[in-house]
Amino acid sequence: MFTLDTEIAWGMKGDKNWQKEFENTRQVVDGLLKLLDKYQISATWAFVGELMREGEDRLYHAPDLLKAVMDCSTPQEIGCHSFSHPVMDDAAFKADDMDKELSSCVDITKSAGVELKSFVFPQNKIAHIDRLSRFGFVCYRGKDKSWYAKFPKFLNKLAHVVDEYLLIAPPTGMPVRRGEVLEIPGGYFYPHKRGWAKPLPVSFRARKAVKGLRKASDKRQIFHLWTHPFNLASDPKELLHGLEAIFKEVAQMREKGHIEVKTMREIAALRRTSLAMTEYGGSKSLLPKGDLEGLTFARNDKGEEMEIASS
Ligand SMILES: [Zn+2]
Repeated sequence: MFTLDTEIAWGMKGDKNWQKEFENTRQVVDGLLKLLDKYQISATWAFVGELMREGEDRLYHAPDLLKAVMDCSTPQEIGCHSFSHPVMDDAAFKADDMDKELSSCVDITKSAGVELKSFVFPQNKIAHIDRLSRFGFVCYRGKDKSWYAKFPKFLNKLAHVVDEYLLIAPPTGMPVRRGEVLEIPGGYFYPHKRGWAKPLPVSFRARKAVKGLRKASDKRQIFHLWTHPFNLASDPKELLHGLEAIFKEVAQMREKGHIEVKTMREIAALRRTSLAMTEYGGSKSLLPKGDLEGLTFARNDKGEEMEIASS
């Protein structure tokens, strides 16, 4: 699974340090779509709502980008990354604000014939999950469950760099039900080529992702790769080259029947474990060839649904 937080400048409003990358995002998306099509990989593109609307500033408005993604011959999922990229776990950000963010996104995409089902929280700051299903969402991306995720900030950064250089296999996992929606675990952020990540060889990123794919295949779980298109613009040629190495492996493993490639909404449709999911599940073509449907679930002491066995 591959998700892209599609925001151009929305995640770092007014930040001039990434100006060149913001300006080159369209080009890199073009290259990425060609690769996805070449290897027939469907990804989930979580768009910032305002980015999909017409407007003068091309770093904050890009309906052309939405069109390009929708026009890809290999179908791509359009997901949602909020309307204006607020920090949603901030105490000042209330449920009403969440409702406004979500309804604005639904309104914009309706006219483009898109039904939003998958959500990615800005900065992966998760809050107000209970509002998602009211607007038709069935899943969101959870945080990466790295071994250093709970370290304090400074140690976390250091451990992240160590983790990249040691090529530790990224986490894989299974969806967990949270209220009416599914949390689909994050996995590996494909790093840009700036700051701490500049000296990190691109081949390391690819090798690490391939470890994630093999681990997912062995454990029959999900490996979830994600990044921002503008991150790729920090070294388009090399970073797209690295992604191609990953996609090649994906295609080979899929060919051998070791993995399947799914978008977020497809995973959610596979896991029809509640009435809400069943109603959404609809299309038979999305239903399991694979193992997910046979999974059975129980609740842990926090009331979360956990996998206990597969048939
Ligand atoms: Zn973002």
